[in-house]
Amino acid sequence: MPDLVDPSPSIPRGRGVFCNRTLNFRALRAIGYDMDYTLVDYRADAFERRVYDFARESLLRVGWPVGDLAFDPDMVARGLVIDTELGNLVKANRFGFVKRSMHGTRPLDFAKQRELYTHTIVDLAEPRWAFLNTLFSLSEGCLFSQLVELLDQGLLPQVKGYTALFTRVRATVDAQHLEGHLKAEIAAAPEHYVVLDPEAALALLDQRAAGKKLLLITNSEWSFTARMMSYAYDRFLPVGTTWRQLFDLVIVGARKPDFFTERAPFFEVVTEDGLLRPSSGPLKPGAAYMGGCAVQVEQDLGISGDSILYVGDHMFGDVHASKRGPLWRTALVLRELEGEVAALESFREAELFLAARMAEKERLEALWANARLALLRLKGGYGPQPAEDGATLEATIQEFRSQLQALDIEIGPLAQAANELTNGRWGLLTRAGNDKSHLARQVERYADVYTSRVSNFLHATPFVYLRSTRGSLPHDPSSPGGPPLALNIALEEAAEA
Ligand code: IMP
Ligand code: MG
Repeated sequence: MPDLVDPSPSIPRGRGVFCNRTLNFRALRAIGYDMDYTLVDYRADAFERRVYDFARESLLRVGWPVGDLAFDPDMVARGLVIDTELGNLVKANRFGFVKRSMHGTRPLDFAKQRELYTHTIVDLAEPRWAFLNTLFSLSEGCLFSQLVELLDQGLLPQVKGYTALFTRVRATVDAQHLEGHLKAEIAAAPEHYVVLDPEAALALLDQRAAGKKLLLITNSEWSFTARMMSYAYDRFLPVGTTWRQLFDLVIVGARKPDFFTERAPFFEVVTEDGLLRPSSGPLKPGAAYMGGCAVQVEQDLGISGDSILYVGDHMFGDVHASKRGPLWRTALVLRELEGEVAALESFREAELFLAARMAEKERLEALWANARLALLRLKGGYGPQPAEDGATLEATIQEFRSQLQALDIEIGPLAQAANELTNGRWGLLTRAGNDKSHLARQVERYADVYTSRVSNFLHATPFVYLRSTRGSLPHDPSSPGGPPLALNIALEEAAEA
């Protein structure tokens, strides 16, 4: 057979398409795409800095003492949760237990964290918690944390408490996205904000050629959408075509998440500068609309939800909501995944070493526990009696304890390094302490597949059959156990000691 196509092109692991629930691309009849941070990738650092600066300036204008504040892209990360009652940022594990936290811009120590959160479970259904759903959340998280410090110092007398502060930050950041200046600046100089990806256009062309209907469904307004899509795609498309020919349907101002769960009318975009006209009758192929709802998309395309894949970056608005409402198949774009996988790979050797030391720790602990039990029985005069006398047992126990302490000293720095992978404050996005993070749990629950960027579909091809890995439980003989679990155990145990 001619070797036309390399079946395993050497793409880095971080650019894979990872599968939670089996998804056969051949069975998909339509693929819907979100735009911002999905089809169009931004330099989050630059974009969020602009949002932050505009928000800060607007607070400055009303007299807030924020002149010296500056955006710090590493202060927060997607997947963290704002505790609006206590003014904290927390990282929770998959069960909602808080594993790391920060008040203002300072980490809370273990004792304080335990005092505040031992009896509290992060439940995103409660208004107390605000989840950082997307890279658009970074400016808000950073600004809130810094303002908590000002509030604590008594420098924001007009604000009554952390919840009120959060409401104000939310409204201020929200306003920057809605007022024209932010979008105008980005549209005027997209080269400063947009990361071009030539392969994304080809991936979409492949999907179209394979017979999929492509939909663009974005919350952005028409003029911004047209500018960004044209900038990011037209240059990579066959001569004489534009981004518009890629899509069977374009929907702007979609108001996700409501788009997926409520009925709303469509307005047709009838001119290039965005003139709208109420739309009656079925949606027209190739046309652009504003508003609308998922139910009518399904109806007019004649495609049921389980044959539509929706691809987006917003954990709630794109992925959770499209599962709650019409039960579309879902793909989450998690841009940070490439750095996450690279960090895990670079730490692999240290991780294996750690795992071996943890295995040794478990062995010593078992010996130590048995020696202690033997001493108890000897002293209590019950049960099987040990061969050794009391003094020998005491010495043995002491010896195991010393060995365990030496091991902890050896393991400590490595476990610490594991905990600081990708971000010194918060560690890996997908892990929290010795477990999956709250973000990872949501990825598992709501995203059928997840990947770092749209162009990864190019390598997967429109014909791929993605199979989920077999779920494992701790008792499963083939459970991975070992290394990843060992990562943070030592550190947590040291903190608890
Ligand atoms: P999408 O990801 O393509 O659906 O579009 C996201 C749109 O929502 C962009 O136009 C963003 O500027 C906008 N956006 C992001 N965060 C906020 C916010 O906090 N309030 C209002 N709009 C936002
Ligand atoms: Mg988006």
